[in-house]
Amino acid sequence: MNELDRLAEPKQAEIVYETDEPVRYEVVGPLAHIIMNRPKYNNAQNSQMTYALDAAFRRAVDDDDVRAIVLRGEGKHFSAGHDIGTPGRDVTASWDRQMLVPDHTNKPGAEFLYTREHEVYIGMCRRWRDVPKPTIAAVQGACVAGGLMLAWVCDLIVATDDAFFQDPVNRMGIPGVEYFAHGFELPPRIAKEFILLGERLSAERAYNFGMVNRLSTRETLLADVQKIGEELATRPRLGNWLTKQALNHVEDLRGKRTATDAHFHMHHFAHAQSDLVSQNSLGGMDAKSMAAANKAAAAEKKGK
Ligand code: ZN
Repeated sequence: MNELDRLAEPKQAEIVYETDEPVRYEVVGPLAHIIMNRPKYNNAQNSQMTYALDAAFRRAVDDDDVRAIVLRGEGKHFSAGHDIGTPGRDVTASWDRQMLVPDHTNKPGAEFLYTREHEVYIGMCRRWRDVPKPTIAAVQGACVAGGLMLAWVCDLIVATDDAFFQDPVNRMGIPGVEYFAHGFELPPRIAKEFILLGERLSAERAYNFGMVNRLSTRETLLADVQKIGEELATRPRLGNWLTKQALNHVEDLRGKRTATDAHFHMHHFAHAQSDLVSQNSLGGMDAKSMAAANKAAAAEKKGK
């Protein structure tokens, strides 16, 4: 057998889920609310959550009474990103896949993460972006790294005045998170700053670049997105679908799909390089060290 075709012994890791319901689904009037529900871990996304999100989008698409979808997070923050360090981190778990990709758990070397992220990150993000109903992200607090991907796949973003956006993965030697919309969401020079320095981008600054549609507050966020969603619900179903497709198509004509494909491979080259050099695909960083580095950088900025 060719050495490259050998399968690996699946890694064993202890996974302790703190909840059976990482995503809540509620219908309010004509809107489905898809609610990330790991507030204890700032809605860090494990596979348990991404598959639950995917199922929730499926449910919202299937229900003809649902005319628009709100994506939001329970607790203090929208999402701290992908789960890189909670007891429920489940990268070694096997799932019934939604894309036509094989199971990742028995794949060796770089093929392991490459296969997994095809499914749970770029694959699912593209699916969610293309759901045939308008989607609104309601963002409060942190929207970091993998959190960006969830906000960006939505058609509209409403953010509280204390929300911030950040992609700090250049600290891991990685050129941005898996769904590489940075250069479409922000002007290229700002996107470079955003990734190179990995600093927090305030909701107000994001709004000024057109990355956020409306600013809100913690007190008014829910009412604001509900109002916009209910307004959308009065527009013709097919018109809403066609409109979002038309603009998504404009983005794709501008190269979004090919840019994200190209970047996905750079992202995985970076994971592989990191693994080769340090036997760790995240540049030796985890949730704790990333949070500490971020906090120190934010404090230093404040002190200036
Ligand atoms: Zn990755």
